[in-house]
Amino acid sequence: MQTEDVVRLESVHKTYGDKRHRVEALRGVTIGLPRGSFTAVMGPSGSGKSTFLHCAAGLDRPTSGSVRLAERELTGLGETALTKLRRERVGFVFQSFNLLPALTVQQNITLPLRLAGKRADRALVADVISRVGLADRRKHLPAELSGGQQQRVAIARALVTRPAVIFADEPTGALDTRTARDVLDLLRSAVRVHGQTVVMVTHDPVAASYADRVVFLADGQLVGELRNPAPDAVAERMTHLGAWADHTPVRALGA
Ligand code: ADP
Repeated sequence: MQTEDVVRLESVHKTYGDKRHRVEALRGVTIGLPRGSFTAVMGPSGSGKSTFLHCAAGLDRPTSGSVRLAERELTGLGETALTKLRRERVGFVFQSFNLLPALTVQQNITLPLRLAGKRADRALVADVISRVGLADRRKHLPAELSGGQQQRVAIARALVTRPAVIFADEPTGALDTRTARDVLDLLRSAVRVHGQTVVMVTHDPVAASYADRVVFLADGQLVGELRNPAPDAVAERMTHLGAWADHTPVRALGA
């Protein structure tokens, strides 16, 4: 049986800047992400990972090429339709958690439902909160939680709308190793147990090894992939791409 792609990029190019300062962040990316898959996106700093994630999630528009997300062609969609699609079909998890400090855990988690004008289904909300292990923290504020707990709130918030795809940008970047493992286990069980689709940008080979597939970007192009990746194999591939050679992000040098 052929698995249906829930995200599909076709010849996606993304160029930033004007004629004099042109940066080709993506140079013809074609890829399909099947429903119920967990994909990690890796590559050296400046290789286009964030741009890829933003274009795939409808946060940014390609300069050319097409993106299909949850059965909708994004090209040509107006801002309002795009916002609605993102709210209803996409969940986001960021490195910096992005919780609202004045809202409790439960209020943060149900915020996407309120933004979409939907009533929170109590059983679903309770289920999501218990899945991330925060049932006894429902009334706490983010500042009263550890980093790992805050990221679990963010994951619950991303799960609560039952999105077609969860996009995660360095979700474990601010966490210690053990806490990171809990967060990755949660993402993986969203895929394995609940059939959701996760796309995660990471620079950590161990984090990437939680995915079914790692795809590698270099200079805005897909340059390879690994299925059922082991951390060592991922690290070796990254070494070949020169990812560890220079730890200074290109942007920090103003290039
Ligand atoms: P990565 O996430 O792999 O570090 P990015 O997608 O952030 O890579 O960036 C890819 C390239 O596009 C880099 O050269 C970066 O400097 C450039 N870039 C990214 N965003 C912008 C922007 N808003 N304006 C100009 N250049 C950008």
